[in-house]
Order: sequence, then structure tokens, then C-alpha cells
Amino acid sequence: MTFEAPIQRLIDELARLPGIGRKSAQRLAFHLLAVEDEDAARLATAITEMRREVRLCGRCFNVTDGDECSICRDLRRDVALLCVVERAQDIVVVERSQEFKGRYHVLGGAISPIEGIGPDQLRMKELVARVDDEKVEEVIVATNPTVEGDTTALYLARILKPLGIRVTRLASGLPVGGDLDYADELTLGRALAGRQEL
Ligand SMILES: [Zn+2]
Repeated sequence: MTFEAPIQRLIDELARLPGIGRKSAQRLAFHLLAVEDEDAARLATAITEMRREVRLCGRCFNVTDGDECSICRDLRRDVALLCVVERAQDIVVVERSQEFKGRYHVLGGAISPIEGIGPDQLRMKELVARVDDEKVEEVIVATNPTVEGDTTALYLARILKPLGIRVTRLASGLPVGGDLDYADELTLGRALAGRQEL
């Protein structure tokens, strides 16, 4: 069943979003049709402004509205400590634990031969350059507790340890097979404190 063209167009767009099925897309579209004009306009503006204003930090590839993100600009951060994550949204997860005082590096994903993602598709070269430039002493690998995340961690250990860098991985206890953000702050704090050498 299809709806009038303008409604169907929105349903189709919403259904392309992660975690939104056909039913949810329909419900959202009809909800947006029923709300006040200014409520719908606020949503549209928020999307447009986010797309216009947010870019990637020139240093760590976190999201930011300036040249460098607020974490890289924070002079109280320990520059000798670098936490490597797959996605920018994982930084918030580690930050919530309040256990980490270093800076971050966003890889942009994890090594996955099945999906054709190798080290060259990730920000590995940028990481190696930073480790050298910024006198990093320890790299904590906080990739997802998945096969791809583990493969990426081992690869990082192989390229960074010969440079004299301590490479550690978050301790087990994280929900295996899922995203980092399935972990609550207490579990993540413990995983950070109990991190193990690779
Ligand atoms: Zn940054």
C-alpha cells in the first residue's frame, strides 16, 4: 500500500534510517503531519544545521563545530595517553565512565575482510603519525568487543609495539558481540582500569 506522494516520500526517507522499520516510518510520518508547523520546522532546521555546522576534528576525527574538538583543545588532558575508538559516538561512551583523562583517535570503523575494510580504509596512517608527533606512550584500544574489533586491536598492537608504544585493550566484561555503547559507565570504567597488554 502506498500513500499520497508527499507522505510516501517522507516514509521512504525515514525507513532508510537505522533501526526504523516500515511501521515506525509510517507512524513518524503521520505524527509529523499532525504536529504544529513550528515543531516540524524545528526538526528540519536541526537536521540542516547539524549537517552544516558539524565537521571532523583535524587531529582526532571526533565531531566538532571548530577546527579541533573540545577534548583536543583541553590542556588538562594527558597527551601521552590515546584511546582508539571505531566511531566518534564511542567517545561519549568512554567519557561517561569518567575514568579516562587522555585524548582520542577515531578510526572510522574496524578491519573487516568480509566487508572489504582493510587498514587502508581506516585512519591508521594518521594514528601512527600522531603517536610519533605527540609523544604518545600508551594506546588503549577501545574498539567494539566483536571479531572485527579484536582483529583491529591485534593489528594496532602489531604496528605500534615495534615503535615502543604500550598497547592495551579494554578488559573483558563488556557485552561480547555488541557495540561499545551497550556497556554502562561502571562496566566501562572497570574495563578501562583493568585493561590488558596486547
Ligand atoms: Zn579532537
